[in-house]
Amino acid sequence: MERIKMTTPLVEMDGDEMTRILWKQIKDELVLPFVELKSEYYDLGLPNRERTGDQVTIDAANANKKYGVAVKCATITPNAQRVKEYDLSQMWKSPNGTIRAILDGTVFRAPIMVKGISPVVKTWKQPITIARHAFGDVYKATEYRVPGPGKAELVYTGADGTTFRETVYDFECPGVLQGQFNKDSSIVSFARSCFQYALDTRQDLWFSTKDTISKKYDHTFKDIFQQIFDSEYKEKFDKAGITYFYTLIDDAVARVIRSKGGFIWACKNYDGDVMSDMVSTAFGSLAMMTSVLVSPDGNYEYEAAHGTVTRHYYKYLKGEETSTNPVATIYAWSGALRKRGELDGIQQLQRYADALEQATIDTIESGVMTGDLSLMWEGETPARKVNSLDFLKAIRSRLEEALKA
Ligand code: NAP
Ligand code: MG
Repeated sequence: MERIKMTTPLVEMDGDEMTRILWKQIKDELVLPFVELKSEYYDLGLPNRERTGDQVTIDAANANKKYGVAVKCATITPNAQRVKEYDLSQMWKSPNGTIRAILDGTVFRAPIMVKGISPVVKTWKQPITIARHAFGDVYKATEYRVPGPGKAELVYTGADGTTFRETVYDFECPGVLQGQFNKDSSIVSFARSCFQYALDTRQDLWFSTKDTISKKYDHTFKDIFQQIFDSEYKEKFDKAGITYFYTLIDDAVARVIRSKGGFIWACKNYDGDVMSDMVSTAFGSLAMMTSVLVSPDGNYEYEAAHGTVTRHYYKYLKGEETSTNPVATIYAWSGALRKRGELDGIQQLQRYADALEQATIDTIESGVMTGDLSLMWEGETPARKVNSLDFLKAIRSRLEEALKA
């Protein structure tokens, strides 16, 4: 079989632990036999981040900006225990945080659905994609405990010297206090990323906040989305036959549960954090959840939503057999290669990406799957639990058949 040629390099960001093992296996079994991979490789594994003083993460994010599309393996975000384990000179920041700060994007997470593993919510027939704003609000808040009686005020001093001052609360006893912020520029980016992604994937976009209670803060989000929609996207949405719909977050929650799925739900940072965990759990598992960071100027970074699966890696190191689910990482590769194919006009690459995803789904639906899925399996054929490599080999033989045809 002749391998598919690429014109622009894909930015490849390798990672850590069990997902690093899967990364190589996926490339060997499912990518390299079919694609003459042109990639610019960055090793974001923790030892190399330590060696380069984390410069490699910054270089990788800049390469993502230069070429437009990246695929990323899960990486360790060090904590105190990891500093000891890897003998680190410092507690390096989360690579995802660094990449997000450079690309300024929105994270879209969508479940991969297969027959035989049904969502907890019976009405859901199609995936629900959560678009999470990844900047500000409670994640960048200033807060403290109020020790006792006294007045708390919110003060703004403008660059030109004008001041606003408002009493937050006149405390008669101890309590708590918090100040949060967001920036118009970040909300604008968030809005554009959401509208663009809705167009790219031809799905309706929902957006929800609590603007009835938060008349300035949340209302600003609502207003900015509406302005951007009216001025830049309304016609494009009409043409694509999709809609933009704003509603209160409590109304959205009720509608989402009663919906059939098949839309994007944009959420503020905290709402997106909580709702994406709810949606992914209700759809089945983090190992079946794709994640893509989309920047407002059209850069894409594809990854799995789960971490490095440390518990399985320690078993692997002891020589024990592991059955770690590679599906989300396979979809990171197919998503990135499809996007590369779209941007470069390489139809064969898009067809390969579609076939790879179909072969993955067909393998599971035939009853062959990793341990995590076999526990949730409700299909007619009994589940056959296999290790990760055998699972990949089963996908490979289906993919070979599909691409021959
Ligand atoms: P995790 O790697 O997502 O794994 C948590 C548990 O979920 C696993 O122990 C496993 O459960 C199950 N699981 C997750 N992915 C699976 C898969 N593909 N196949 C089968 N089971 C899977 O989260 P963590 O253990 O909390 O974090 C490990 C490391 O990942 C941390 O160092 C963290 O910093 C990093 N992390 C990175 C990212 C990222 O790069 N995007 C995201 C999150 C966490 P069982 O053990 O019950 O089988
Ligand atoms: Mg969370």
